[in-house]
Amino acid sequence: MKHRTVVVASAIALACVLALGYLVGRSSSGSLADAQEVSPTEARDRDFYAPNSEDLAPDEMRLIACGTGMPTARPKQAASCWLLELGNGDKFLFDVGTGSAERIAALQIPYNYLDKVFLSHLHTDHFGDLDALFIGGALSGRQKPLRVWGPAGDTPERGTQYALDHLFKALTWDRDGRAGITDPRGYQPFDVTEFDYKAVNAIVYQENGVTVRSLPAIHSLDGPVSFIVEWNDFKFVFGGDTYPNKWYAEYATDADLAIHECFITVPDMIAKFQFTPQSALAVATQIHTAPEAFGKMMSIIKPRMAVAYHFFNDFDTSAAINDRIRTTYDGPLSLSVDYMVWNITKDDIRVRMAIVDEDVWPPPATEEPLLPDPSLRIPYSAMIADGKYDMSDVIQPTYDEINEQYGLNEKQEQ
Ligand SMILES: [Zn+2]
Ligand SMILES: [Zn+2]
Repeated sequence: MKHRTVVVASAIALACVLALGYLVGRSSSGSLADAQEVSPTEARDRDFYAPNSEDLAPDEMRLIACGTGMPTARPKQAASCWLLELGNGDKFLFDVGTGSAERIAALQIPYNYLDKVFLSHLHTDHFGDLDALFIGGALSGRQKPLRVWGPAGDTPERGTQYALDHLFKALTWDRDGRAGITDPRGYQPFDVTEFDYKAVNAIVYQENGVTVRSLPAIHSLDGPVSFIVEWNDFKFVFGGDTYPNKWYAEYATDADLAIHECFITVPDMIAKFQFTPQSALAVATQIHTAPEAFGKMMSIIKPRMAVAYHFFNDFDTSAAINDRIRTTYDGPLSLSVDYMVWNITKDDIRVRMAIVDEDVWPPPATEEPLLPDPSLRIPYSAMIADGKYDMSDVIQPTYDEINEQYGLNEKQEQ
């Protein structure tokens, strides 16, 4: 009781102080009295992006970072993945790196619209969640094949077609186990368009007023590429992993938005990733693009917005990266992190963070699902089927409930 009194007294004291402060503020400052009051009956504009809450203008595009980090995906950053949405309704994914399928799910876009993926190269931090998008998308409303564009290798075994043929084979048990249970249309083989990684500024996609071009990149082995999207007089550039290269310098010039990798600094590779100095120098300056080199490239191409990715963006790493970029580049810059959002119009580039719902469920399918064909089921062997413990008595009420609710006559498997 005594404790409660103290609490009440404290609350009254606090209220008095607040009221006094409010009154003093009012009387001593005209600006407060003039301030626009928008609460409690009116909301002000959001300064974050809530998925599925904003229309895109016909001449606007939106980019959302679904992965900005490293091969070892972590809670804060999945590996490379970028969703580009155009005002004409088209949506494109650039890379589907490890961990990114979860970020894609958070955006609540019907999976039927997420059927076009462009892969920069075949490191897992750039396509490691393709299996999750393939199966999860098919399960949740993508009722058509997943289309994938990616580079041929210098040998067939290092090309996108080979990788995806074998990924499809690796998913044999998964796919076979779903036969006869769900709509089968999304589980068809990947629809792969492989193209020459050496082709310079060559068209790899052209539909619905959108052109996607490919540039060679220099990274690990022959094969990696970058992409340029042209639509509605916009130029969007997605740079895959690369040592800075002359094709990007020439063809990414004057982009509205240019993504380019920017690796973690060599001292942090040694201190935080525990690389040897020799490996850190090789990886962070020769296989990838060092921050100073990222800045030099952006000073050459002069985009309306430069986007750096492929580093763990933390309180104790981003300052060093920013400092090094700023030795060679002083233009508009985004040090990306997952769920960063760019709205791009002719007049403006607005950068915000998306706020996502952790309890998100897949959005409804945009087409009526096909009913399963039980004749396609692959049966258990007699030995495994015989191991079923009899639960029919406790499950039957669910059948009765659903059959009555939906006017069906479904029966339990025997
Ligand atoms: Zn790579
Ligand atoms: Zn990478």
